[in-house]
Amino acid sequence: MSQKSISDLVSGASCMDDYDPNSMPVASARKYIREFLSPVATKECVPLRSSLGRVLAEDIHSPCNVPNHDNSAMDGYAFNADDMQATGETRLKVVGTAFAGKAFDGKASNGECVRIMTGAVMPVGTDTVVVQERVTTDGDYIKFTDGPKRGMNMRYAGEDLKQGQVVLAAGHLMRAADLGLIASLGIGEVKVYRKLRVAFFSTGDELASIGQELQAGQVYDSNRYTLYGMLTRLGVEVMDMGVVRDDPALLEQALIEASGSADVILTSGGVSVGEADYMKQLLEKLGQVVFWKIAMKPGRPLAYGKVGNAHYFGLPGNPVSVMVTFYQFVREAMLVLMGQPAPAPSPLLNAICTDEIKKFTGRTEFQRGVLYMDKDNNWKVTPTGNQGSGILRSMSEANCFIVLDETVGNVAPGALVQVQILEGIV
Ligand code: AMP
Ligand code: MG
Repeated sequence: MSQKSISDLVSGASCMDDYDPNSMPVASARKYIREFLSPVATKECVPLRSSLGRVLAEDIHSPCNVPNHDNSAMDGYAFNADDMQATGETRLKVVGTAFAGKAFDGKASNGECVRIMTGAVMPVGTDTVVVQERVTTDGDYIKFTDGPKRGMNMRYAGEDLKQGQVVLAAGHLMRAADLGLIASLGIGEVKVYRKLRVAFFSTGDELASIGQELQAGQVYDSNRYTLYGMLTRLGVEVMDMGVVRDDPALLEQALIEASGSADVILTSGGVSVGEADYMKQLLEKLGQVVFWKIAMKPGRPLAYGKVGNAHYFGLPGNPVSVMVTFYQFVREAMLVLMGQPAPAPSPLLNAICTDEIKKFTGRTEFQRGVLYMDKDNNWKVTPTGNQGSGILRSMSEANCFIVLDETVGNVAPGALVQVQILEGIV
């Protein structure tokens, strides 16, 4: 994306009719950010296991059919459906056994069948399997009535994957099932995009680091820990740059250092009214950054842009706001930068809200909630008490966000609300 577009955003010009930095709907902020993202270009080959959580940089084609041969889906007897009696009893002679990994090397002729185990290659001359539970044995013979239809209880060569087929496309985020799928093709290495490098630091004169004694008016820096957790779960390379004082010279130095080696810079604090002024001047000098007031709670102030070549997200300082803005804006942007062209949005599910919620329309709220199933198997959600943006306990207690969009006003107990599940989000 060209620098010109970023300057359009900075100046609020161009054809962005609804652009209002002081009242930016959540969806518009997401849309604007999305326009500036292009994935890291470098690709690397990694052993299959190491590709977990990485994004494929090339399509993977199947070098073979999976399964490789027609085989039995059940333990039973393989035979040719032509030998089956339309009505009454079918009687077949058992001429051998086929095991998984050890095929029967003879063939089944008219009136014959082969004892077969799950996964064993279908013997020559057979096209159907009758499961063992439906059969009675009589010496070398089996008998059954109401036999299966032709082709039943078997798995066809290529029914999972056909030779040459694109199994997974470039841009796919590798999950556990994908490791197994690729292993089923006998492929041991895959090409993925290199890991995204993300530098982050906390800003604030009031911040103490673990190990230091708290002085009056100080708080321990917790944002670097939640950011570390969220970034690590995303599978990026993290560069923790510590705490930087509210001093323009130190902040400038930190931003320059970060932009020299990171693809993305995240800072927390210093973007709220009152503090934003010197950050604004600094960021104008170092790159192009917009300061938005998002129509949301928590997480109203947000800065976004470029510092050098690095993408920059200036998150608010309040610990809950950091997490909310990360999940609502940064996570998706990172997935795009990691190589996923169109990451699926986190699903919104309906649940019954147990409590009253007071809310104004015109902004989106991300309340913290506990989602559970009641004794009648209904999914219900209860807000976690105090919803202040400094109450990090609410994030720890919550297993979901209650997402109340701009159109939603007060919520009555028993009303349906939308929830976004926290666990499993990466
Ligand atoms: P700011 O956005 O810098 O005005 O900070 C807003 C609030 O968040 C203040 O109460 C800060 O003390 C608090 N805060 C800022 N950064 C951190 C941090 N890294 N850890 C914990 N609290 C923070
Ligand atoms: Mg601050």
